[in-house]
Amino acid sequence: MKSDKAVVVFSGGQDSTTCLFWALKNFKEVEVVTFDYGQRHALEIECAKQIAQELNVRHHILNMSLLNQLAPNALTRADIEIKEGAEGELPSTFVPGSNLVFLSFAGILASQIGAKHIVTGVCETDFSGYPDCRDAFVKSLNVTLNLSMDTSFVIHTPLMWINKAETWALADQLGAFDFVRQKTLTCYNGIIADGCGECPACKLRLQGMEAYAQSLK
Ligand code: ZN
Repeated sequence: MKSDKAVVVFSGGQDSTTCLFWALKNFKEVEVVTFDYGQRHALEIECAKQIAQELNVRHHILNMSLLNQLAPNALTRADIEIKEGAEGELPSTFVPGSNLVFLSFAGILASQIGAKHIVTGVCETDFSGYPDCRDAFVKSLNVTLNLSMDTSFVIHTPLMWINKAETWALADQLGAFDFVRQKTLTCYNGIIADGCGECPACKLRLQGMEAYAQSLK
């Protein structure tokens, strides 16, 4: 049964778009928030905008350029870290604690728009993960946010314990496989859909898709 309102932390990548479809299935009202931290590809923001438009959800874009100020080498470091599989969640790859910042701002936004639910595509399964993408952290922040605003937010992490192949499976279950495949941007070289096929993010995405295809046979 659908209930309440949710905010989805949304980058326009595979993971967060799958989360958006998940939220649309589970909540009556859904809005998305994208953090603009001077992404390597401005296209990322454009891609997020287009998806939000197409799915007819209200899109909040918050300027987080402060993150670049904190981490001047962000781009280079993002280049290294992207292979860690943090697709769609680039900020957490180059600024320690940035997911803390993002989820906190998502919480403030949620309180402003009267949303009880916050959805994020963080995942503990892929590789080592960043500390503030782990389940224990998210649960802890959930308590902290509620204490800070005297609210009863629920943070949802539909991808926390699943791998890339299972994320494709989830998109498929949600009837969104083709949409996610064709409209999302994961590629480090800024190519939508199947991407350049060469960069670590593309390889990871493709491996997951192939593993999912295999599992259907
Ligand atoms: Zn690529």
